[in-house]
Amino acid sequence: MKVTVIGAGILGASTAYHLALAGHDVTVVDQEHQGKATLAGAGIVCPWATKLDEPEWYKMYAAGAHYYEELVAGLAERGQSDVGYRKVGALVTAEDPDVYDAAGERLARRTAKAPESGGFEEISPEQAQARFPPINPAFRAFYVPGGARVNARQLAPAMLRAAVALGATFLSDLATLELDGACAKVLDGRGEEIPSDKIVVTAGAWAAQILGPLALHHPVKPQRGQILHFGMKGADTSRWSVLLPMASHYLLAFDDSRVVVGATREDGKGFDYRVTCEGQHEVLSAALRYAPGLADATLLETRIGFRPAPPGFRPILGPVPGIDGLILGNGLGAAGLTIGPFAGRQLARVAAGEAPELSLDPYSPAA
Ligand code: FAD
Repeated sequence: MKVTVIGAGILGASTAYHLALAGHDVTVVDQEHQGKATLAGAGIVCPWATKLDEPEWYKMYAAGAHYYEELVAGLAERGQSDVGYRKVGALVTAEDPDVYDAAGERLARRTAKAPESGGFEEISPEQAQARFPPINPAFRAFYVPGGARVNARQLAPAMLRAAVALGATFLSDLATLELDGACAKVLDGRGEEIPSDKIVVTAGAWAAQILGPLALHHPVKPQRGQILHFGMKGADTSRWSVLLPMASHYLLAFDDSRVVVGATREDGKGFDYRVTCEGQHEVLSAALRYAPGLADATLLETRIGFRPAPPGFRPILGPVPGIDGLILGNGLGAAGLTIGPFAGRQLARVAAGEAPELSLDPYSPAA
């Protein structure tokens, strides 16, 4: 079957990879718009402590984390072992004791059902500091060994490379859609049709633009995130744990003496690709409150990404009613690096006419 995937962030890259694995004839088109969320995302994969308790959303979030090891092993078998994923453990903490206790209750309930989490335990401030040296020593912390981080700038291209090695075609281009009777057709940047039996739109925050000509109202909007990267010269940060203070902000580290602190959540700013004073101030303040040991770190860069934010929290995944062969995947919001690979596998199954592993009814574009 010929399937065209429009948008190659984490979701489209995964969809293309899984379609190619199943032997389909895949074309992926990606424009890499400025602010592509996958290029800015922090990369925390640790769903079990989240305060959000919306059951359907959480099911998808937890399934996303569960799938990671299988995904990484499958990519390694295909020669793609450089994906930036590591189980470094997560420290769950909170300034307010009630918030901390509630996090402990959620961890107890959820990690019991998720063996990949490795359970959790309360650790001493000294142990917490050994796992994330800049941490505020006043904090109590739970430790979740299965908490992980991923560098999506490595993972998404690795999935695309694996897809191409399996026969997929990648086009760096802007795609458009047109209605052709009861079906949609895809046009490339020169206006030429890309022949497709099925079309999967995984266009992130830009999806409303491409769906507009089909007279489809699409509710996903861009939510700007400003995220700061710090250098800690000489520090081996490669195994530092993720720090989740049960608030809007969080910290994590990567291999190259780098600590990342995220992020603003700015609705109503459209595609305004700018670093703002207020955004810097917000994230810097959080960084120093939770991790005073960052005081002497070098501010390397601020990345900006537009999260594809749905009206509630649930992603939108599945066939579009009334348009034959059109499938939509979007609205992964602030959790897309966790959910994306699993959700992409489900979109691939739907495109191929197979049942998804998790019912997508609650996520239907029609819902
Ligand atoms: P995108 O990555 O935005 O990709 C969409 C792609 O579609 C783009 O490349 C765009 O150019 C392309 N496109 C659109 N229209 C067209 C067209 N007409 N033709 C061709 N191409 C087109 N998630 C987590 O799980 N953990 C985290 O720690 C985390 N941290 C985050 C921190 C920040 C600051 C941000 C911004 C996000 C974070 N996320 C996190 C969320 C995650 O990054 C996103 O949910 C995810 O990347 C969305 O992926 P996507 O593939 O849907 O969209």
